[in-house]
Amino acid sequence: MVEVHDVHKFYGDLHVLKGVSLHVERGQVCTILGPSGSGKSTLLRCVNVLEEIQSGSITVDGTLMGYAKDDHGRLHELRPRQLAAQRSRIGMVFQRFNLFPHMSALGNVMAAPVRVAGRPKEEAKEQAMELLERVGLADRAHHFPAQLSGGQQQRVAIARALAMEPDLMLFDEPTSALDPELVGEVLAVMQDLAASGMTMMVVTHEMGFAREVSDVAVFMDEGVIVESGSPAELFDNPQQDRTREFLQKVL
Ligand code: ATP
Ligand code: MG
Repeated sequence: MVEVHDVHKFYGDLHVLKGVSLHVERGQVCTILGPSGSGKSTLLRCVNVLEEIQSGSITVDGTLMGYAKDDHGRLHELRPRQLAAQRSRIGMVFQRFNLFPHMSALGNVMAAPVRVAGRPKEEAKEQAMELLERVGLADRAHHFPAQLSGGQQQRVAIARALAMEPDLMLFDEPTSALDPELVGEVLAVMQDLAASGMTMMVVTHEMGFAREVSDVAVFMDEGVIVESGSPAELFDNPQQDRTREFLQKVL
């Protein structure tokens, strides 16, 4: 489903991803762990083509991200419209719940299906209500973001991302801006989503979640994947000193 092959990413002179390769199968949850600055967010942003890569390739569901082949098999960068089409297959949820502040929860979830996908309003509304129900917020549909708790806002953000019926969901520390008592409700929604068969890449510091929900856990440090494996392998039997040191600090 997701094939990251030998990706290098620079910000100016700063070499941020140094040959990252990663494979996530359909329906799998891949959690990405690692210290601050190791390149976790950058990796997710590259998958979603929010960042350009300098070499290597990323394919999602067989589609080469950021590029298209012409009739002669040569690669070309995508035009904005094509890029938007690729991105719409991928949902992303960030640390900060960046909801549209002037729209209700329902309005937030309906916005992209109506404006981007051109769905009829009534149909989009019905689907949005189902999604709000799914994240446990049917009774908050007409509340504005400022009237919702952080955990509720983040659940609306998840419903909003799901409204475009993505093939892949990316989460970048979706719970780290939340008060501790609100973390559980967001993780529960993510766990449901995983159980429903969604393919997910999740950057998180929630080790309990990573251990319980992930099929593959990846430890990154300084722009490389130091090691990856099943949660049992990575958490209980890490092979690398760097992984061991990191886990000792966070567990
Ligand atoms: P954290 O756990 O703190 O979120 P991270 O693993 O997500 O860290 P990244 O945000 O991917 O790390 O950053 C990797 C490196 O790239 C860091 O050294 C960071 O300073 C640098 N970086 C990130 N974004 C940019 C940018 N837009 N321009 C220049 N450098 C950047
Ligand atoms: Mg980050």
